[in-house]
Amino acid sequence: MPATAVIGTQWGDEGKGKIVDLLAADADMIVRYHGGNNAGHTLVVAGEKTILNLVPAGVLHPGKVCVMGPGMVVDPDVLIREIDALKARGYLADDRWLRLSDQAHVILPYHRAIDRARERMREAGAIGTTGRGIGPAYEDKMARTGIRVGDLFDEAGFRDALGRSLREKNEYLQALLGEKPFEAADIIEMARGWRHRLAPYVTDAGAEVRAAIGDGKRVLLEGAQGMLLDVDHGTYPYVTSSNCVAGSASAGAGIPPQAIGRVVGIAKTYTTRVGGGPFPTELDDALGERLRADGDEYGATTGRPRRCGWFDAVVVRHAIALSGVDGIAFTKLDVLTGMDPIRVCVAYEIDGTRHVMPPATQRGWARATPVYEDLPGWTEPLGAVRALGDLPANARRYVEFLTKAVGAPMAILSIGAGREQTIRLRDVF
Ligand code: GDP
Repeated sequence: MPATAVIGTQWGDEGKGKIVDLLAADADMIVRYHGGNNAGHTLVVAGEKTILNLVPAGVLHPGKVCVMGPGMVVDPDVLIREIDALKARGYLADDRWLRLSDQAHVILPYHRAIDRARERMREAGAIGTTGRGIGPAYEDKMARTGIRVGDLFDEAGFRDALGRSLREKNEYLQALLGEKPFEAADIIEMARGWRHRLAPYVTDAGAEVRAAIGDGKRVLLEGAQGMLLDVDHGTYPYVTSSNCVAGSASAGAGIPPQAIGRVVGIAKTYTTRVGGGPFPTELDDALGERLRADGDEYGATTGRPRRCGWFDAVVVRHAIALSGVDGIAFTKLDVLTGMDPIRVCVAYEIDGTRHVMPPATQRGWARATPVYEDLPGWTEPLGAVRALGDLPANARRYVEFLTKAVGAPMAILSIGAGREQTIRLRDVF
């Protein structure tokens, strides 16, 4: 039974948390394969809100195995707090339901300090990072100076690796960033606590995922962020520090590419992005304000207001092309109730030429202006709709238009934050 990957097709915050929670009901194992606590998924089940930053969004289903894969970067304090909060509410009753890869990289206090200090120095050119050390931890991974979860369990080795890393980091922090240095002893002491708390979960996670697939288990691969934030294929440099394409699920979870059988793309029925960078369909006016208010478009953990705009079929098409999306889950259609007309960007015009796929360079993005088609709106609230046929005619026309514009079939339509506010059109396993 091949795995199903779930990816964001825009700039993140598409509602992946809700959709993964929903699909997790039919899965045996849910694997996060990249990113860290720069992701914030909001789940609403029976009116109760849960925000997850590291633990996969299958955790609200008892008995499902949630795996944090080798491609992730993990802040141990954040993970421990998240585990405690979930346990306090009766989730994760069995430690075997949570697995943490010994190959995942550890976010250490100096990564956070570097992240924040650099973002402050960039000022106007800020990328809009979450300041949680994700970028610097991935940099260390690629520079081969990172510390992995498994290293925490070898105190002598950890001490040596930390000492080497700190010599460089402290110099950088003090001389270039004007920050205070870190004491190795303090971090070694912290690591003792982490080791003790995380030991029940740490494992060769890739091997466990491969074994589950081999045993015919249904595995869901949970993407974080979105396609346009992919470090190679997104709006570089305004991107995240990992790959978000479905292809990266293979490396990040430790499974062969053939093991991924299906890809579900999540697309919000309008567009948002957080932080700097290109956003051709952005609305800087009262309509954008209204989308932000009605869609509650504020970062799940940072509270940062999201930039809002019309649906951009160009970026979603790009995501579908790169990730081989088999079906789309469209979310937040309910938020568009009362807007009329509703605009959809079907192409970009760049220097007088029409493009149906996005440019690859910053220069191209800066010159892209959206080509819109206007569709009539509707006024009825959609939260109680449970079948496509019960949608107001214009709402149905709108999602059908989006489906055609992006070129992939609709698998799911979400018309509210609740698990039950969902119309399922196709099986995704
Ligand atoms: P993620 O990071 O992709 O999981 O997205 P976020 O959790 O940051 O943002 C999605 C937000 O929208 C969350 O607060 C969800 O509860 C909410 N949400 C998801 N689907 C819908 C929907 O169809 N309608 C409405 N109104 N809210 C939704």
